[in-house]
Amino acid sequence: MSRADRVADRLAGKELDLLLVTHGPNLRYLTGFTGSNGMAVVGRDVRRFVTDFRYVEQAATQVVDFDREQGPQDFVTALATGWPEGELTVGFEDDHLSVKAHARLREVVPDRITLEAAGGIVEAERAVKEPGEIEQIAAAAALCDDVYDWLREWGIVGRAERDVAFALEHEMRRRGAQDPSFPSIVASGPRGALPHASPGIDLIERDTLVTFDMGVRLDGYCSDCTRTWATGAVPDDLAEAYALTLRAQIAALDAVRPGPAGSEIDAVARDIITEGGHGERFGHGLGHGVGMEVHEAPRLARTGKDALVAGNVVTVEPGIYLPGRGGVRIEDLVVVTEHGRDVLTRTTKDLVAVD
Ligand code: ZN
Ligand code: ZN
Repeated sequence: MSRADRVADRLAGKELDLLLVTHGPNLRYLTGFTGSNGMAVVGRDVRRFVTDFRYVEQAATQVVDFDREQGPQDFVTALATGWPEGELTVGFEDDHLSVKAHARLREVVPDRITLEAAGGIVEAERAVKEPGEIEQIAAAAALCDDVYDWLREWGIVGRAERDVAFALEHEMRRRGAQDPSFPSIVASGPRGALPHASPGIDLIERDTLVTFDMGVRLDGYCSDCTRTWATGAVPDDLAEAYALTLRAQIAALDAVRPGPAGSEIDAVARDIITEGGHGERFGHGLGHGVGMEVHEAPRLARTGKDALVAGNVVTVEPGIYLPGRGGVRIEDLVVVTEHGRDVLTRTTKDLVAVD
């Protein structure tokens, strides 16, 4: 069954006749199209793809299983016609379509069509990776591992955080990445207590912790990996926070398998950190799905209701943040297999000292 066939199956269960796909990664997943302006309509017998003049040639090679048409640049107007007969309920991706675009859509489509908010359908399909996709994510994770190896050699003490972030991103691209999958984080000393610090002009000092969070996009698939390194002898409270985070991270990784809900995996790490006295210093979810987007389904968080299934690829990334002191986060990418898990991230989690 093709990806579009599987999505069409999901529509039947939701009493939708068709789904209008406008979100870039969803469109790419279903059609292969990598351009910035396109949309698709998918249903049991409908495979319609619309783009504008700029992408017609590109779509001819990328989009092979859909009926292709060229619309105007304001291509929503193409949806005035071309629908199957009768009264139809058409889902749209409400978590990605702007209010303005939705109003325009309502204006354009015939009155016999009911538009219904139906976000998350393609995302649910994307959450379960095909073997080829897992290979691509593993390759993106391996590239990230290589960049960490390179960084340990290159050195970090005495360099500005933002210079290190820039060098990391240069190195990713040099090794074949399209781009970083998100803006890299380099947070040293007390700034490590900010979970999403943007790299500053501060120089990385000796005898503290430094947290790096980076990922690459390689052939359309993302990786995501956090490591915290020491720059010499680390104060006891930070070393203890590191040991506790690592213990929680390993326990949560071990709990990953088909069956438990995301919230249950989150609880494994959270309980350990809470028992260690730092529960209130771990203020974010444990992890998230990774694929064509760096944050996607399923979520490993207190609100993560979905049960894990084989083929999910998720991060496991507990952290402890001590205001005014520093922070620790350790993040691996892991794939849920038939009977357990396979950790894709290989770079060491020992508290390494780097100059
Ligand atoms: Zn990350
Ligand atoms: Zn992450």
